[in-house]
Amino acid sequence: MATNNARMVILGGGTAGWMTAAALAKKFSGMPLSLRLIESEELGTVGVGESTIPHIRHFNQFLGIDEADFVRATKATFKLGIQFRNWGELGEEYIHPFGSVGFDINGVEFQHFWVSAYQSGNAASFDDYSVAAAAIKKNRFAYPQSDDTGWRGSYNYAFHFDAALYASYLRRYAEDRSVVRLEGKVKHTECDPVTGNICSLHLESGEVVEADFFVDCTGFRALLINGSLGAEFESWAHWLPCDRALAMPSTKVVGLSPYTRATAHSAGWCWQIPLQHRVGNGCVYASEFMQDDLAYQHLLSQLEGAALLEEPRKFRFVAGMRQQQWRKNCVAIGLSGGFLEPLESTSIYLIQVGIKALLDLFSPRADQQLLQHEFNARVTAEYVRIRDFIIMHYAETRRDDSAFWRYCQTMSLPDSLVQRQNIFQQVGHVDHLQYGVYAAVCIGQGVIPQHFDPRVGGYSEATVAGYLARMRNEIAQLVDEMPSAELFINHLLNNEEHS
Ligand SMILES: Cc1cc2nc3c(=O)[nH]c(=O)nc-3n(C[C@H](O)[C@H](O)[C@H](O)COP(=O)(O)OP(=O)(O)OC[C@H]3O[C@@H](n4cnc5c(N)ncnc54)[C@H](O)[C@@H]3O)c2cc1C
Repeated sequence: MATNNARMVILGGGTAGWMTAAALAKKFSGMPLSLRLIESEELGTVGVGESTIPHIRHFNQFLGIDEADFVRATKATFKLGIQFRNWGELGEEYIHPFGSVGFDINGVEFQHFWVSAYQSGNAASFDDYSVAAAAIKKNRFAYPQSDDTGWRGSYNYAFHFDAALYASYLRRYAEDRSVVRLEGKVKHTECDPVTGNICSLHLESGEVVEADFFVDCTGFRALLINGSLGAEFESWAHWLPCDRALAMPSTKVVGLSPYTRATAHSAGWCWQIPLQHRVGNGCVYASEFMQDDLAYQHLLSQLEGAALLEEPRKFRFVAGMRQQQWRKNCVAIGLSGGFLEPLESTSIYLIQVGIKALLDLFSPRADQQLLQHEFNARVTAEYVRIRDFIIMHYAETRRDDSAFWRYCQTMSLPDSLVQRQNIFQQVGHVDHLQYGVYAAVCIGQGVIPQHFDPRVGGYSEATVAGYLARMRNEIAQLVDEMPSAELFINHLLNNEEHS
């Protein structure tokens, strides 16, 4: 490897900082790369970010983390998807399940059969053909079997975890692999007057930390990528007007649910995230359409347990990203690079996207312009794809009970989203990257494709209805065999304790 005693500094010890440190330590273990991480206990971390998507498992697997150990250490619970309430219309709900919905039949994607059955009045709700959704509706959980080509291998899962515990867990992992942690607050940075590269960070203690390469994980502060290097932020607030959130943990309630709940209100939505020891609750809202005190009322009204703080934690943000998340000798990972509201729990996934690109491309002797270009293109593509997906939840609503929802219904949309939506509405086609997910959310919001794959026309109505009925029965049988999510996790933890 050509790192040649490279010195890298990660500034920030939140989820992004410690995930980056752990992944770099894993990949470059034993190589001539010195890794240091600076964080400030006084400044603390954003302290939220507890719901994930299944990609987190790939990250943990890459690190070689034992899952039961991780679940115990981070007070994690299993997540099979997201339940959306009041999005298409007040009183409606649907599930974005992890994994596939239905099965392809003779090479034709399931949603085409479902549309055909729907048109002839023979279809149950789309998510009824998913194992994950059926398990969610019964609060059940069991591990999928990835080598099973039937229903047992058709679903997927992620975690809810305590963000602070996850960062501590990864800190131990990284420190065990030679990452050096420095405590302190960076006061200012020094850049090379010729190249513009960052050369050193000056801590309040007077200590000066030099490095060849920096990773900015300073969260919303974006101290290096923006403060030192001036990478501009592109706002997407006109498409995603929610700009505030309140968070309030509450006591655990009986009966663990294996899903995140996202309940829309008149100017945004509220989340509920069940952990082993508490429930995370939050209210995301657009300040242009809702006063803070009303948002607080919404938040309190959804608590099922007792509030654990006197006052909610408050957040302000703007949806958007820095087009240049790698600039000069610095890469931004996490909130320093951009922010998309947590409606689809994608921020930690975007951290992974940045880390993966960095691991693939980091090479101090190669053409840095080339690497930067590739990194920025990859990260931007993922941000844009997820941005469009999140906007779609707001745009595809029939709610007109508030100024906020009327705005969402009529706002202009990114061309990329318009194109994708038109294709789905016309012919039910979904690109393979979003297969399953996209159809579940679109149909859940009430967007039913007008036409289906012509090959479905070769099957009689009764045959299609029979296929669908059989799928539902098989799924129901499988879910009936699963233990409750609560029992499953207790069993896992107890076995671990006794092993
Ligand atoms: C309301 C809300 C809800 C969210 N929910 C989810 C969710 O459900 N799922 C999800 O995937 N994501 C979610 N996110 C996003 C998620 O919280 C973040 O992506 C994740 O926590 C990463 O944050 P970070 O590490 O970039 O920043 P932070 O946690 O803010 O960490 C920044 C670090 O930089 C350090 N630092 C800053 N300045 C200095 C300095 N001058 N000197 C030294 N150290 C410094 C701080 O001390 C800290 O250690 C949510 C975000 C918000 C705002």
